[in-house]
Amino acid sequence: FLTVSGLTKIYGDKKVVDNVSFEAEKGSITCILGPSGSGKTTILRCLGGFENPESGNVIIDNREILSLSPEERPISTVFQSYGLFPHKSVIENTIYGLKFKKVTRKEAIKEGQEILEIVGLKGYDNRRINQLSGGEQQRVALARSLVVKPNLLLLDEPFSNLDAKLKLVMREEIQKIQKTFNITTIFVTHDQEDAFSVADQIILMNKGRIEQISSPMDIYNYPKGEFPLQFIGRSN
Ligand code: ATP
Repeated sequence: FLTVSGLTKIYGDKKVVDNVSFEAEKGSITCILGPSGSGKTTILRCLGGFENPESGNVIIDNREILSLSPEERPISTVFQSYGLFPHKSVIENTIYGLKFKKVTRKEAIKEGQEILEIVGLKGYDNRRINQLSGGEQQRVALARSLVVKPNLLLLDEPFSNLDAKLKLVMREEIQKIQKTFNITTIFVTHDQEDAFSVADQIILMNKGRIEQISSPMDIYNYPKGEFPLQFIGRSN
């Protein structure tokens, strides 16, 4: 479904993303895991169209997407800062992406309300964003990405601003949403627990390069080489 090949991004003289290639199956969750500065966010920014890579191909459903503008890509991105409009209501934020589609306002509101119910925010329509908790804002950001029914969902550190309890809830939530919508998801984290609890496959990054791509079980049981061993924190 998704094929990334030879993706390279250079800032100055530094290869921040160095010849990264991977595939993801339709409806799967891929987690890009690695320490701070390893290039995780930059990969998402290249996929989402917010950075132009020096080289590489990205194919979604047999279509090369790097030549498309961010709006033309069948991709939704949720960044760490959520990018919500703080003074607007939950429903206005949720249906924002539908402004660019051919749906009436009435239809947009109906679709928005359906998605809000799925993310556990039924009845929150008229609340303003700045009256919500971090976790609730996170859900609105998710609802806004889902309402446009993207082929690919990109999440950057989706749980970073949440307390431990909410993190557990949101991990389950993401998996539930995943099952409901069957959207291929890539999510970036430096938190191993996040990765091991929700991912179908883990891409372990270090200094712009992929160190290992495996299922969570395999990466835990069979870390290949020094970095994976040290990062995963156990020795065989
Ligand atoms: P974190 O977990 O801290 O967000 P990351 O793995 O997502 O880290 P990136 O944000 O992709 O890492 O950054 C990788 C490297 O690229 C870092 O060394 C960063 O300083 C550098 N970098 C990122 N954006 C730019 C930019 N616009 N100009 C120059 N260097 C950049």
